[in-house]
Amino acid sequence: MNSEWSLDIFYTSYQDPKFTEDFKRYDESIVKIKEYVSKLSNIDKEEALVTILGLLEEHIIIESNLGSYIALRQSTNTSDTETVSNMSVLEKKSTELSKEMAMIDKYIASVENLDELIEKNEKLKGYSFLLKTTKENAKYFLSDDVEEVIAKMNLSAGSAWGNLQEYLTSTLEVDYNGEKTTLSGIRNLAYDNDANVRKEAYYAELAGYDKIKDSVAFAINNIKKQVNTISDLRGYESPLHMTLRQARMSKETLDAMIIAMKEYFPKFQEYLKRKAELLGHKNGLPWYDLFALLGENNRKFTTEEAKDYLINHFKGFADDLAEMVEEAFDNSWIDFFPHKGKVGGAFCANLPHLKQSRVLSNFEGSLSDVVTLAHELGHAYHGLNIQDHLPLNYEYSMPVAETASTFNETVIMTAAIEEAKGKDKMVLIESQLQDVTQIICDIYSRYLFESDTSIYVVM
Ligand SMILES: [Zn+2]
Repeated sequence: MNSEWSLDIFYTSYQDPKFTEDFKRYDESIVKIKEYVSKLSNIDKEEALVTILGLLEEHIIIESNLGSYIALRQSTNTSDTETVSNMSVLEKKSTELSKEMAMIDKYIASVENLDELIEKNEKLKGYSFLLKTTKENAKYFLSDDVEEVIAKMNLSAGSAWGNLQEYLTSTLEVDYNGEKTTLSGIRNLAYDNDANVRKEAYYAELAGYDKIKDSVAFAINNIKKQVNTISDLRGYESPLHMTLRQARMSKETLDAMIIAMKEYFPKFQEYLKRKAELLGHKNGLPWYDLFALLGENNRKFTTEEAKDYLINHFKGFADDLAEMVEEAFDNSWIDFFPHKGKVGGAFCANLPHLKQSRVLSNFEGSLSDVVTLAHELGHAYHGLNIQDHLPLNYEYSMPVAETASTFNETVIMTAAIEEAKGKDKMVLIESQLQDVTQIICDIYSRYLFESDTSIYVVM
């Protein structure tokens, strides 16, 4: 089993002639779309819609190959200058069609007998949902020129503020015990078995934030300002209204979830108070002990053991999932281990047009790392289920995105708890409670922050 993923399915390197060829094809596809859109008014509507969909399908597949290859390389080597420069070229090119994309959306919305055309044309039928939702959203479109300016300006506005926040937090040097560490390094110490380490690391983390807090607050404020401005310009009732439409979720569904969360807050408070008592605290749980483990779980997995563990637990429940997990481990879909220059955390990139996915993890062998792999492979399973969809239907909304992954995680965690005995069982249940607390309480606080449309003043 390889410990690093293979990206050869795209290109063998930036020098691969196929890479240069695809960049050329990408430029040609931009020109083709521009030309076609410029003469739309003279073409029969059914024919125009079919041709546009065909051109866009071709375009997003080339873009996905180039974009995925560069972005995946960047995630395992963030400081590679060739990657950074290729990414900036692609980003710039990808905004070149923003005006035409806006024109296409408006064109679709202007087709009066859209339902009728969809009914009689197979190609259009396949994109019925896309075409109908585009028409429904037409009232939120701005003029083509404004759409173009927003997309192009975003590179030096919201997106640039986001890059600044990422840069500052990923390069921050935190002073700890006379040495320098990273933000993710110090955050990991929140899980340390030694109470003093957790406490000191927490104060070191806060002191670290002091160095960047004004700049990060500036970045976040301006991202938020941009969201407020755009939602206002487009005529949404609020940024939340805009987000809900993008997530294809009704306000009633969101409210029901928030009410359920609030109803259960007392249970979480009880749990946190009990945790405080078990850790010997008198007046509730201090922040620095939020992630303390109530015992040690020393079970270690090799990648081979992680593979067997996942396959055994998924087999019987969903054989196609177990088979896909085996393929992911055997065919270099996964980049396992942390190293300098590799991004933290974990993610999965679906490549449905290639009938594969790629998973990045920072595997160190703990059960929680195995659970993370289960989560990411849940996203890959989602990819498996959309791979036969039409290319312009590959996209899915955030609430849908986290379904298979959270489900997988629960399957593995439940199995681990069932197998454990005595104190080990309690440690695992507590660690699951910790995760759920973070989802419910932490996400609720972010929701409050996001719902507040005022701007926070710093300094
Ligand atoms: Zn996820």
